Amino acid sequence: MNAHVRPADPKKLIKGATGDWEVVIGLEIHAQVTSNAKLFSGSSTAFGGEPNAHVSLVDAAMPGMLPVINEECVRQAVRTGLGLNAKINKRSVFDRKNYFYPDLPQGYQISQYKHPVVGEGEIAVDLSPTEQISVGIERLHLEQDAGKSMHDQHPTMSFVDLNRSGVALMEIVSKPDLRSAEEAKAYVSKLRTILRYIGSCDGDMEKGNLRADVNVSVRKPGEPFGTRCEIKNVNSIRFIGQAIEVEARRQIGILEDGGVIDQETRLYDPAKGETRSLRSKEEAHDYRYFPDPDLLPLEFDDAFVADLKMHLPELPDAKKARFIAEYGLSPYDASVLVAERDQADYFEAVAKGRDGKAAANWVINELFGRLNKEGREVSSSPVSAAQLGGLVDLIGEGVISGKIAKDLFEILWTEGGDPRAIVEARGMKQVTDTGAIEKAVDEIIAANPDKVEQVKAKPTMLGWFVGQAMKASGGKANPQALNEILKAKLGI
Ligand code: ADP
Ligand code: MG
Repeated sequence: MNAHVRPADPKKLIKGATGDWEVVIGLEIHAQVTSNAKLFSGSSTAFGGEPNAHVSLVDAAMPGMLPVINEECVRQAVRTGLGLNAKINKRSVFDRKNYFYPDLPQGYQISQYKHPVVGEGEIAVDLSPTEQISVGIERLHLEQDAGKSMHDQHPTMSFVDLNRSGVALMEIVSKPDLRSAEEAKAYVSKLRTILRYIGSCDGDMEKGNLRADVNVSVRKPGEPFGTRCEIKNVNSIRFIGQAIEVEARRQIGILEDGGVIDQETRLYDPAKGETRSLRSKEEAHDYRYFPDPDLLPLEFDDAFVADLKMHLPELPDAKKARFIAEYGLSPYDASVLVAERDQADYFEAVAKGRDGKAAANWVINELFGRLNKEGREVSSSPVSAAQLGGLVDLIGEGVISGKIAKDLFEILWTEGGDPRAIVEARGMKQVTDTGAIEKAVDEIIAANPDKVEQVKAKPTMLGWFVGQAMKASGGKANPQALNEILKAKLGI
């Protein structure tokens, strides 16, 4: 349900001295556009170059240089807008946002103000397998990133690195639809997934390629929105959650003491677990926006948009629904698999033509579990989808038991090889030869007359016999055959 009309959820309210409070959050996400070149110059966007190695005369704002729009960045912004179910504006305008800062040689940032390339949209955010909210998107616009001042290189001077200057950013502004730190974190994580599927931003928060300005206010449930504070440049999902929680607490404390919230820009300090004032509304810049006279309005036609739409990949929501319908997965398993596109692709390569639930089980529990433990990505998995598929086949055909399959998985992980050939060569096949199983069962029954008495009174004791017989067979007895033989011989 849309948060504009969503009633306050008692579980999400914060207890104060004067009663319950509701937190209201809206996010401005800055996402670096995946593109080889900058927004208005041909310089490289590569990360980690020597300072000022990727700076053209345009990026350094030399007099007389003219910006030229990079069409790839426009395409990425439109593709992202489509992924956010948003209105695409066929005419948008680049404005100059004027301010002075050493890392901004132009003296203004080229951005979009009144006429952004993408208008209102909406995304679905899963909070749990059963709880989903819809979050409104206000707009998405294109703008330039700034450079970076370096204050730690010289005792008396500051330097500037303009490698980032002019790199394309998408600013994605949400409506104030979020009502808890958890919701905000789930929203960012969903947005990041969508961007990564589309390939318009790699979502790498450690490199600063995705960062958030977090707007927070509090109110008593049912009251109008309170005054908000904006926490600038938070660069991890965990910190976004922490910043919201401490900022909401701070505001509640002030209001309950009879104070008022000043609209201001703040910074979150993760080491101290507090937000600090950066500037108040009075000190806010007057950016004196005006259309950049060096750039024509950005215009494209329906065919341009239709073509981008046609070539969009299947997005996470559609993929999740298809996994549930096509492979019979639970919503939870489907969500886990679609969180990253390469994970979903891996699963599908294992599941195609096989039992989908068994495939999901092996991919999520065994493979992801193991990758996680060793801090590896699915892209560098030692076990390929073809190998894991072969393992699932062997279980399905009754050649190996689930227990032996775990040993096989271990061999595939550490040594590699063809699953069927390994099972053959190492004698790992399941014993379905009833004669051999019967012999093992007879021996156990003969050696344990007391247990035989007990199981007659308490049939759950059967598990003990199953365990013993399995052990005797080296884990290779066919569990179904073993159960039947045991029941028959014990007369239960
Ligand atoms: P500005 O242009 O001054 O940054 P916007 O109206 O564009 O202001 O809002 C910026 C962000 O603040 C948006 O993400 C919006 O959802 C959020 N926001 C607006 N009002 C509130 C509020 N009362 N509480 C929390 N967030 C808010
Ligand atoms: Mg803002």
